[in-house]
Amino acid sequence: MKNSTIEITYQIFSNMEELPQEDRRLMEKAQEVSLSAYADYSRFRVGAAVLLSSGEVVLGNNQENVSYPEGLCAERVALFSAMSQYPQKQVKTIAIYGNPMDCKSNHYTTPCGACRQVLMECEHRGKGNIRILCGGTAAEILVVESAKSLLPFHFNM
Ligand SMILES: [Zn+2]
Repeated sequence: MKNSTIEITYQIFSNMEELPQEDRRLMEKAQEVSLSAYADYSRFRVGAAVLLSSGEVVLGNNQENVSYPEGLCAERVALFSAMSQYPQKQVKTIAIYGNPMDCKSNHYTTPCGACRQVLMECEHRGKGNIRILCGGTAAEILVVESAKSLLPFHFNM
C-alpha cells in the first residue's frame, strides 16, 4: 500500500478588471450570454464562452427543460457547439459566468462533474490544456490551467 496526495494549482483574481485583457473579454462575453439562458426551473443562469486556438469565440448558456435531466449546462452547450462547428480547432480557454436570477451568488461558478469530463475530452481531442476561468456575480474569479486540476481520476479507457 502506498499513500499519495494530489495537489492542484489555481489562481484567484479579485474581480474581472484584474484578469489579463484576453481573459477579461472572454469573461465579459460569458456574462453577456448568461442573460439569455433558459433557466426557468433553477433560476440560475450560466454563460460560457469558449476561445479556440484560431481566435473564434463560441458562446453557450444553460438550456433547461421541464423534464430536468434533458436540460444541458452552458459549458457543454458551448463546447459541443464549438466542436461541431470547428472540429479541427483546439479549445484554448473557457470562461464560465454564474448569474442567478433572484440573488447574487457568493461564490464563483465552477463546472459540474459531467462538464469536467467533457472538458477532459476536449483536452484529449485538442492535445493541449484548457484554461478554465470560473466567475459570476460574486466578483472573485478562479482560474485553473487544465481540466485535469478539476477532475483527478477522470474516466479514461
Ligand atoms: Zn455542467
